[in-house]
Amino acid sequence: MDLKKLAATLIPDTDLLPLEEYEKMYPARDLPKGAQVTRLAPSPTGFIHLGNLYSALADERIAHTTGGIFYLRIEDTDEKRRVEGAVESVITSLKYFNINFDEGAEIDSPLNKYGPYYQRQRASIYRAFAKDLIERGLAYPCFCTEDELNAVREEQVAKKETTGYYGRYAKCRTLSEEQIYANLAVGKPFVIRLRSHGDIANKTTFRDRIKGDITVTENDQDVVILKSDGIPTYHFAHAIDDHFMRTTLVIRGEEWLASLPVHIELFKVLGFPMPAYGHTCSLMKVDGGAKRKLSKRKDPELSLDYYRRDGYYPLAVVKYLMTILNSNFEEWERKNPAADYTQFKFTIEKMGKSGALFDLDKLNDISRTELSKLSAEQMYDFLSGWADEFGTEADRRHFADREYIIPILNLVMGTNSKKRRKDIERASQGVRLLDYFFDDTFAPDYSFPFDAQTVSAVLSGFAAVYDPADDNAAWFAKVKGVASACGFAAEMSDYKADPSKYKGSVADVAGILRVAVTGMPNSPDLGTIMAILGRERSLARLEAARASLAL
Ligand code: GLU
Repeated sequence: MDLKKLAATLIPDTDLLPLEEYEKMYPARDLPKGAQVTRLAPSPTGFIHLGNLYSALADERIAHTTGGIFYLRIEDTDEKRRVEGAVESVITSLKYFNINFDEGAEIDSPLNKYGPYYQRQRASIYRAFAKDLIERGLAYPCFCTEDELNAVREEQVAKKETTGYYGRYAKCRTLSEEQIYANLAVGKPFVIRLRSHGDIANKTTFRDRIKGDITVTENDQDVVILKSDGIPTYHFAHAIDDHFMRTTLVIRGEEWLASLPVHIELFKVLGFPMPAYGHTCSLMKVDGGAKRKLSKRKDPELSLDYYRRDGYYPLAVVKYLMTILNSNFEEWERKNPAADYTQFKFTIEKMGKSGALFDLDKLNDISRTELSKLSAEQMYDFLSGWADEFGTEADRRHFADREYIIPILNLVMGTNSKKRRKDIERASQGVRLLDYFFDDTFAPDYSFPFDAQTVSAVLSGFAAVYDPADDNAAWFAKVKGVASACGFAAEMSDYKADPSKYKGSVADVAGILRVAVTGMPNSPDLGTIMAILGRERSLARLEAARASLAL
């Protein structure tokens, strides 16, 4: 068969360069020894998830701790799944988590010398190499229809054989020259397939940088390399791109392990050295006592949007992911509490070989700890940033009053830097902790565990003596005074000695005042809350609570 003629017929493009030109166009990168070139290669489907972030963090850390490059390539070969704005969303979502690309799609960088970084814009490179494979007899056209392929699959399933296009099932592999041209003459659509020379009887050992040594069976499948629209499949495109973009380490999900034999054969026929590969384990969660993979359908926490909307502190998410990515990160953090996580020496060797358990409770715990380290001013910035984007109208109005909110945050978080409270976990929850400081969001639950007469006496008794100028000691002395006047024990010890003598203790009186002022049975220091609310608002609340009583 005249393979040159066949290649020119199947791929008549006139803009293809001689293959050596591509090697010259994309020369080896000039980087220090040991520097790793990694990439994130998402499809622009608009759904950027925790798995992407997990992988991107590993890529980014490895590139940047070795003085290498981390770039963004968009695998947009599947036009149907493309979503408008998806690339920007990848970049902004990752930026939120402090993950920045050095080069790539939509990245403004002088380093962008290995582009274009959208696969659709690289069609001629793939086609040049596919043409070469056809010329060398290593690829061929396949005219099988969807129905024919389905019939083959059914037969294979019925016979319990491996499914796919291989061996005697690879019908078009043996088409004669006449048959091929006859098919072309009637305009039959075709794909280009690899002519595999592998044998499943051969097994080799592959060194996966995460999983360790794994046994792989040689590929014998004549996989599609160019689809009928002339666009490459992932298998073919990634091999060419990772070679010419000079990737040194491919980190990708373990779902790709099954196609690793195909990729090994493709690199071999293309004559490219293979980069190192590390297949990450899937993120799992415990559900009803059993472990399962995080699922797009069932688990909202898989979407990165979830973390932004809920107001997770990005550093907490990053640190949490670091703990599941590198088993020694937590210990390092304990020893270096003040150090930035980027100082940690991230290594691929410490990445887990199997199922990484995603534990939202642990993330929440890290989140509370990280947020407790912020000053009131930093917390204000974080919460108001969230309120601007995701909060209610009322939240935005409240956050416009910085002077009023800073003391509230000091109260909620505590001012003792050695013993900060960990009340705030996420912005969506933290912002709600401030609601009762504003009249328009104050929604009291006036459940008093005493009769209305007693409550009324306490409230009006305290209103009569309340002075916002009082310090905490004076404030409490007044609460005690009201306690005595209303039949409560002013001292806890008196109450404990003989509870039957009293309606309750001074703590119960403070409890009544707390419910009236904050609308809740629990709150931070009530005296401080009243000082923040100010005289007018505090008195109005005491009165409103009294007015609610059925006297
Ligand atoms: N486009 C592939 C995906 O989104 C990339 C896999 C890889 O990183 O090579 O799964």
